[in-house]
Formats: sequence, structure tokens, C-alpha cells
Amino acid sequence: MELWQQMIRDSVHTVDQIVEKFNIDRKVAEDLDEFFQARINPYYLSLIRYPGDPIWRQCVPDKIELDDIDSDEDPLMEDAMSPVPNITHRYPDRALFLVTSQCGLYCRFCTRKRKVGDYEKISMKGLESAFQYLEKHTEIRDVIMSGGDPLMLTDAMLEKIIQRLRAIPHIEIIRLGSKMPCVLPHRITPQLCNMLKKYHPIYLNTHFNHPWEITPESSKACTMLADAGIPVGNQMVLMKGVNDNPEVVKELMQKLLRIRVRPYYMYMADETKGANHFRTSIETGLNIIENLRGHTSGLAIPHFVIDAPGGGGKIPLLPNYVVHFDDEKIILRNYQKKIFSYKNYHDNHNPVKTNGKNGKTKQKEIKVAKIELPVLEEVEN
Ligand SMILES: *Cc1c(COP(=O)(O)O)cnc(C)c1O
Ligand code: SF4
Repeated sequence: MELWQQMIRDSVHTVDQIVEKFNIDRKVAEDLDEFFQARINPYYLSLIRYPGDPIWRQCVPDKIELDDIDSDEDPLMEDAMSPVPNITHRYPDRALFLVTSQCGLYCRFCTRKRKVGDYEKISMKGLESAFQYLEKHTEIRDVIMSGGDPLMLTDAMLEKIIQRLRAIPHIEIIRLGSKMPCVLPHRITPQLCNMLKKYHPIYLNTHFNHPWEITPESSKACTMLADAGIPVGNQMVLMKGVNDNPEVVKELMQKLLRIRVRPYYMYMADETKGANHFRTSIETGLNIIENLRGHTSGLAIPHFVIDAPGGGGKIPLLPNYVVHFDDEKIILRNYQKKIFSYKNYHDNHNPVKTNGKNGKTKQKEIKVAKIELPVLEEVEN
């Protein structure tokens, strides 16, 4: 057995352990176990500095989760948008592919609790129909392997799946969505990196939420991935008592760049059952972006998004930098709240030369760039 597998075996996960370690009432611990099992591996456990700290909140069961029984279990409608088991196909050219229900740690805020940890809900039996769906849908050029955590599979199993995906000509890129670099960095071994780099282009998005998660171990893991030519991105979730603070987020983003991880998304927490106590106001998120843009490297700034309830997908939010916009000009304010004006440019009669199909130069009309009001459709929720 590999070290990381042993560490999963050594995780805190039974009701007895929860009661003893975290001083939780037995009945509450039982109810929490029923709701969503605990799994805290010894590495992540060692990052806790005091009860209730940002690491603790992410992994230790809390009775407050049980107050929240009315919220949706699948707010993003991943199951409704699943044409075959293990696949969610929401966007035109990419699909989410769930390959395992297991994770290196169970996050209390997880939005996929309804499936995570349950072998029946994300089953290996679904893999064949998922491959067939991906083969048939030639518009899919980007497959995101997720779960659970795809790096819970053994290298051999992972390689089998990746080989099968690589045999599909229209799949251009493969992405792995894995928390392992953060929660169990020992999973990132030289063997794994050597295997993955045979199948480029491979991208990996990981999930750090707090600067304390950047340790010598996680730094090494991310560096190894980068050295294997795998661009690593980070998807942070904004959470109360974890990272709802501009200074904490800035420190995290800067530290991520130092270990060659590029901030990608910062999500508003989903409206998901048992996790609403993590939600912050939208203003908190906008204020964090306001405190990053202009104040630090553009590379350190993630896209701030809401994954829309009802399956609308990720929708970006920005602090409002546009003071006024008309046909003549746009008036903007910068990060220091200073005002600047930029003249609009009317390019409706300026042909742009493009190369026609048979090598001849073709002229293409560019449409007037004007802001059109979106057609609004009422979406039921
Ligand atoms: C997030 C997500 C993707 C990937 O979205 P990107 O914006 O391309 O990173 C694809 N499918 C589903 C269902 C998703 O939730
Ligand atoms: S690693 Fe991801 S899928 Fe697994 S429990 Fe955490 S948030 Fe959920």
C-alpha cells in the first residue's frame, strides 16, 4: 500500500473518534455521520491550529449542518443535466465526467454530498456508457474528470480511463479536478506525474481555500505537477470563517503563484443542504476582488463567479468599474477610484481583412459594437 492510501485508512472517520477528538455530543455525532460521513486524514488534521479555525471548519462535522435540512441537495441541477450516469453535460463543448465517489478528505461544504462517499451513486458500472456518450458527442473537446476526486483511483485505473479518453479524436484537452494537492499532497508522486505527462495536454484544477494549506508538502506536490508540464489552477470557495477577508484571500493568491498555481475561480458558496452557514454576502466577494485588482499581480486574480442555482452555469461578477457608457465614450473608475474617460470607436464601416478559405483575401463586415439589452427569461427556482 502506498503512503497516501495508508493515510486515508488512518483518517478520523468513526463516530467514536469524532466524539473523542472534537468533543461532540454522541447523538449529534451520529446524526452528522448519517447526514455526511467524516473523513479527516492525518495530514490535513495536523494543519488544525485551534478549535474552530479555518482548517477545522472545513473538515470537522458541526451540529449547525443539521439545522439546514430544507435546502436543495443538487442546487446546480447536475443530475437533471446528466444524459447518462457519470456525465453532466451543461456547456456546448465540454463535459463533466465523474469517475469515483471517494475523496482524500470529506469537505463539510461539499456541494455533491448527495453522491460523494457512496460507491453506488458514482459507480464504475457507469463508465462504459459515459465513454460511449463522449465518443458520440463530437462537439465535446474538453473533458473534466471529477468525482469525488479522480486521484483517489490508482495510477493504473486512472491511466486506463485517460487512455480511453485519448483514443477519442475530438477530445482535445483533459482536465482533472482534484483536491489532493491541498488535502493529501502525498498522492502526487513521481510515478503519477510520469504517467500523466504521457497524455498531454492535461490540466489540473485544485482547491485551496486558506493560506495555511500552503505547506512544504503541498508546495512540493504543486511544483511536481508544474514540472510535469501540467498547468495547475485553483478554484477557491468563499466561506464565512474560512476566507471571507480580503487580506486572507490576497495572501492565499500570492502564495499560490509562488508554488506555480494560477488562481482560476473564486466561487460564491452554493446554496446547498447542510452548508448554508458557510455562505457570505455577495458584497463580501466583490470587496475581495476590489482589493485584489490593481493592488496585486493580475495573475493573482481569479474570476469571481456564482454557479447559478438551477443549472445556469458559472456567471462572472465584477465590482462596477463603469461609471457611464454611451455611443461617444465610456467613463471608468480605476482601482484607486480615479475617473478616466475612453472615447468609443465606431468600427461598423471598417472592414477587417481575413483570409478566406481558399487563400483569397476576403472582406468581412464587423457589426456595430453596441450594448444590447439581454432578452430576459424568467427562470423558475
Ligand atoms: C464548472 C463546470 C464545467 C467547466 O467550466 P469552465 O468554466 O470551462 O471551467 C463544465 N461542466 C460543468 C457541469 C461544470 O460545473
Ligand atoms: S474533495 Fe470535492 S467532491 Fe470531495 S468532499 Fe471535498 S468538495 Fe466534495
